[in-house]
Amino acid sequence: MSDSDSITAVPSRTCTRCQRDFPATPEHFYRQKLGKFGLQSTCRVCTEDVRRISRDARRPPREYELTGEIWKDVPGYEGHYQASDLGRVRRVGGSYGTCHPRLRKLSVHQQGYLVVTLYRDNCGRSFLVHRLVFAAFSGPIPDDTDINHIDGNKKNNTPGNLELASRRENIHHAIAIGLMNTTGENNPQARVTEAQVADMRARYRFGGGPGYKALAKEYGLPWGTVRNIITRKTWAHVA
Ligand SMILES: [Zn+2]
Repeated sequence: MSDSDSITAVPSRTCTRCQRDFPATPEHFYRQKLGKFGLQSTCRVCTEDVRRISRDARRPPREYELTGEIWKDVPGYEGHYQASDLGRVRRVGGSYGTCHPRLRKLSVHQQGYLVVTLYRDNCGRSFLVHRLVFAAFSGPIPDDTDINHIDGNKKNNTPGNLELASRRENIHHAIAIGLMNTTGENNPQARVTEAQVADMRARYRFGGGPGYKALAKEYGLPWGTVRNIITRKTWAHVA
């Protein structure tokens, strides 16, 4: 080491918390009048870390945090977003201005699934919540694979209700539990039951007995609806 080097060389200082060595400059350590070199003994990163931890410890928990739910990092968004075993998503605190976690609002997708937008590098992207929960709690989802809601409730995104399914299996599963069967009474827009259809057809008589008009009045249906039922234009599957 030459003389000129020893004059300009800055002594290094070991952070007492993370044990890393830094040049003993205010750039790496906060100033402290009575400290060695006039600097704090912990590096800037550690000092901020300690401050944040004590600040979080003093903070009273928010109401939504008192449920005892388990939060896990969303893969690809570690340190930014977490998903819970209740199917909720939150932004993680930590950086300036966002020191507390905050629940993300979920919205309902056209097909009835819950979606959430996550931001990274100033770029927002929408995700299906059940996929985030599955990835956080059960591991990565293989390509071209759907997540199946075991009970058929698209909004029940607890890890125990989610399972991997191939796309074909998923459609079969939906039919099996009646999600895609919209025939007859399974159709949410159905205005009559199969029993009522059978009753109308049994009692209808052209000429004698109740006609379209009488049956329509009795069941509170439009005349045309009753005609379609009697002529088997609708409800053809009912005997
Ligand atoms: Zn440190």
